Amino acid sequence: MAGKSFFIDTTKCTACRGCQVACKQWNMNPATKNRQRGSYQNPEDLSYVTYKLVRFSEFKENGTPVWYFFPDQCRHCLTPPCKIVADSIGIKAITKDEATGAVLYNPNVKVKENEFRQIRKSCPWDIPRWDAKTQGMAKCTMCIDRIEEGLLPACVNTCPTGAMNFGDRLKILEMAETRLKEVKATFPKARLLDAEFRRTIFLVVDDPQKYHKYAASGEPEITRLAAIKKLLQPLADFPV
Ligand code: SF4
Ligand code: SF4
Repeated sequence: MAGKSFFIDTTKCTACRGCQVACKQWNMNPATKNRQRGSYQNPEDLSYVTYKLVRFSEFKENGTPVWYFFPDQCRHCLTPPCKIVADSIGIKAITKDEATGAVLYNPNVKVKENEFRQIRKSCPWDIPRWDAKTQGMAKCTMCIDRIEEGLLPACVNTCPTGAMNFGDRLKILEMAETRLKEVKATFPKARLLDAEFRRTIFLVVDDPQKYHKYAASGEPEITRLAAIKKLLQPLADFPV
């Protein structure tokens, strides 16, 4: 089954952070204490209680200030490296929902810190987070509880500009390709990030590294899966 996908069009993002706040509200996650770090990005990073974060990248190019905004979240990988690693070390905290393809963490399953480090390291986008107190892991849930009721994910529902989109994967892929063609006319470097193997597809107009260190996976899927398989042998039995 093709399942669902997000399309995040960064060209339409104004960094209002409505998606970030809606995510906190729906998941009843507390606010995160922050400090002034010389950036409008708030908080500094994803966490056990922050599943969605609008990253601000501010720099100068040829003397002109440039701002790029990147509403970061789990990519809900078709073959999730975090789940492969967790399963291989006997941690039954990660499942994949059949209907949507959502990759789900069970925060009630206790994970030791060294095990969590392996799981986090396997994610090319540095998404998984862990809480030292509860020893649980957490991240974006795709708002599976809302989807099951026929609702959009909270972040998509609240986005006022059309930057956040969600729906059946094949339709979303079509939407992303169509928008890419439009944007490329003005921004020849525009590209979709990791569309083939992920359910969260970003459109960017420049080098992904200028948006965020972990914006793109940076290596072909086959290379990554082969590397994980080698790491976990002889336990790994997933296809490469
Ligand atoms: S983006 Fe990272 S945390 Fe999300 S499913 Fe993929 S590997 Fe797991
Ligand atoms: S709600 Fe939409 S426009 Fe606002 S920060 Fe999120 S993605 Fe960007």
